[in-house]
Amino acid sequence: MKKIAIFGSTGSIGESTLNVIRENRDLFEVVTLVAGKNIEKLIKQIDEFKPKNVYIIEKKNAETLKSLYKNINVFYGDDGMEEISQLVDFDISISALVGIAGLKPTYNMIKNGKTVALANKEVLVAGGELIMKTAKENKAKLLTVDSEHSAIMQCLNGEENNTIDKILLTASGGPFFDKPITDAITVEDALNHPTWSMGPKVTIDSSTMMNKGFEVIEAKWLFDVEPNQIEVVVHRKSLVHSMVQFKDGTIMANIGPKSMQIPIAYALNFPNRLSNNIEKLDLFEVVDLKFEKPNLEKFDCLRLAYKAIEMGHSHQVILNAADEVLVNAFLEKKIKYTDIPKGIEKMLNSYERRELNSVENILAFDKEIKEKTEQLF
Ligand code: NDP
Repeated sequence: MKKIAIFGSTGSIGESTLNVIRENRDLFEVVTLVAGKNIEKLIKQIDEFKPKNVYIIEKKNAETLKSLYKNINVFYGDDGMEEISQLVDFDISISALVGIAGLKPTYNMIKNGKTVALANKEVLVAGGELIMKTAKENKAKLLTVDSEHSAIMQCLNGEENNTIDKILLTASGGPFFDKPITDAITVEDALNHPTWSMGPKVTIDSSTMMNKGFEVIEAKWLFDVEPNQIEVVVHRKSLVHSMVQFKDGTIMANIGPKSMQIPIAYALNFPNRLSNNIEKLDLFEVVDLKFEKPNLEKFDCLRLAYKAIEMGHSHQVILNAADEVLVNAFLEKKIKYTDIPKGIEKMLNSYERRELNSVENILAFDKEIKEKTEQLF
């Protein structure tokens, strides 16, 4: 039985992971559940999956869990996150916290040579070079459960990356691809994603196409290609999950149902596939496999992501930190939708390039950027 740790168990990816485990009880055992604030959901998960270790942010909630479960190791706070992410009693961890919160725990697991399946793309946006270097040094295996990157991994199927001409990274285009982007866009409009059901931060990032910018950076690190070898291709139906165009002109595409359970199951059981009960695609029904170019003048956040890639690592940390603050502020209805790219651009232009070569340096810079971004509104 494979022992599984889930960082972000109460979130959208966390729940999809638990669905896969629920359907494959003979293959997987949950040893660690990490949640943020949702104690009710965490309690239900503990009762069902009986983990050895759990984490919740607040001490008060941790005390409730300690009084309910005498035989479970309960962790909380910053020190608790450090401790639980240093445990090595699992075979594969799903890294599905949101934003920069996942960087240090993911780094710790990689440093300990563990296998990590990454959903939390912000980890590679803020710390890609360090994470990839640390994985190599410690022989840690880094898998991906982001559907596009899982698709690319499957298209490559172990081929050397020097056979790649370019990666064709698909994007749904989000709710505003065919509509104007204006100040009148509400939180509800932006959360209404046409093809995927996900947590709030990534749903807003998808609507601005910042998510695709993050995924370009993620793909650069995971597949060791140059940014100009990654082309964003809008495919509204989200049936083609991404493609690789090889140097001989062949294009391999990964096509399948829209369900995060498929890439998650593929990572959990890597390199073997698992059967599931998800409705299979009927290709006779899939009449249109249309692809379009993204409009960088309209989707400022995608343009800014490319700008940050050119500006270097420190500006990718800025991109990530400013976006996290501004998306949260938009979700809390403190700023307008169009203030998101405006704020990010302002922050990108306010800093000179700098070296950030440790997790501590990255986290300190992230904190500085977040404080400065908060002063914008
Ligand atoms: P959610 O917001 O649904 O879930 C986030 C999870 O992380 C929750 O369990 C939350 O706990 C927990 N969490 C957040 N902050 C902390 C913290 N400081 N300490 C401990 N736990 C914390 O997000 P998603 O599942 O949608 O996304 C997770 C990551 O995966 C993101 O980086 C996203 O970009 C990426 N991703 C998501 C996809 C999707 O389909 N959802 C697809 C591909 C990538 P709680 O809810 O208890 O507060």
